[in-house]
Amino acid sequence: MMKHNFSAGPCILPQEVFKKASEAILNFNGLDLSLIEISHRSKDFVEVMEQAQALALEHLNLQGKGYKALFLQGGASTQFLNVAYNLLNKKAAYLNTGTWASKAIKEAKLFGELVEVASSKDANFNYIPKGYDIPSDIDYFHCTSNNTIFGTQIKEFPEVEAPLVCDMSSDIFSRVLDFSKFDIIYAGAQKNMGPAGTVLVVVKEEVLGKVDRAIPSMLDYRVQIGKDSMFNTPPVFAVYVSMLTLQWLKDLGGIAEIEKRNNAKAELIYNEIDRNPLFKGFAAKEDRSPMNATFNLVDEVHKDTFDALAKEAGLNGINGHRSVGGYRASMYNALPIESVQVLVDAMQELEKKA
Ligand SMILES: *Cc1c(COP(=O)(O)O)cnc(C)c1O
Repeated sequence: MMKHNFSAGPCILPQEVFKKASEAILNFNGLDLSLIEISHRSKDFVEVMEQAQALALEHLNLQGKGYKALFLQGGASTQFLNVAYNLLNKKAAYLNTGTWASKAIKEAKLFGELVEVASSKDANFNYIPKGYDIPSDIDYFHCTSNNTIFGTQIKEFPEVEAPLVCDMSSDIFSRVLDFSKFDIIYAGAQKNMGPAGTVLVVVKEEVLGKVDRAIPSMLDYRVQIGKDSMFNTPPVFAVYVSMLTLQWLKDLGGIAEIEKRNNAKAELIYNEIDRNPLFKGFAAKEDRSPMNATFNLVDEVHKDTFDALAKEAGLNGINGHRSVGGYRASMYNALPIESVQVLVDAMQELEKKA
């Protein structure tokens, strides 16, 4: 049965990427060897790594601007501490917009003084705080561009004097931004780019080398830059599949094109959430994420009927995170609009039955 995959992460990737990835497992580049059995120092794999890094910078329009792209391990969660390890000398400021932001704050507190400039915890993170002050004597400011669990997204980033660091795990490569405003961008691969196992870190080199502490080699961005993400054995499969997805994105027209498609998908689902009397949206309208739409039934009495309709329609991964309940439709880059239409049809079917 055809599935419509709304999983929040790991999540849908393009079918053609799966096909190419599976071919490379058996016979990579016509070498009669598997991608995962050759040396990461071989010419064939080094080209993959270089291509993945180049495509990442190209999509973000950051080539030749002093940035390096790294593919590291430990997921976005390791970047929560890594950012602080490399940048936090005395004091940093964080915006608390959800579970992931809170985790980033917890880790960074181990390294220095933390100022939480604003938080939307008072409303279970259903909005993005605005109009807060950012202290000037900070080493950096950290925010989370898209809150995967709560379905909110920062539309306007604050102007900051200090380096701007952003966790873009769940909306990287989904919309056009002036990425040169950011000094460090990181994103776990498994939400718009590839399989779990690698995290993309894009670093502006000039912000490094300013902390007093010694940094262990694996966690030192400068060491990783010096070794081109190959200080140790990189996660070759995850990097390869990420490269394929970035190539897929380039072939279809890049971020500008995918943003149009993502906006069309978002419009379709949010229009239905607002129109259908049986559902209500969770996130504040102006902060709604095109990547993760969170919504609830107005009356839980319809839950079993809707879940059965969803199952029958092949809808996968639409259950909300336990901290929000209800439903969450994650509509990452590779999700076709047809899948969103199937979800909307199921919502309308429920309305007819109820
Ligand atoms: C999923 C997610 C993370 C955690 O990523 P891991 O790679 O599992 O560590 C961090 N931040 C955001 C915004 C996420 O969506």
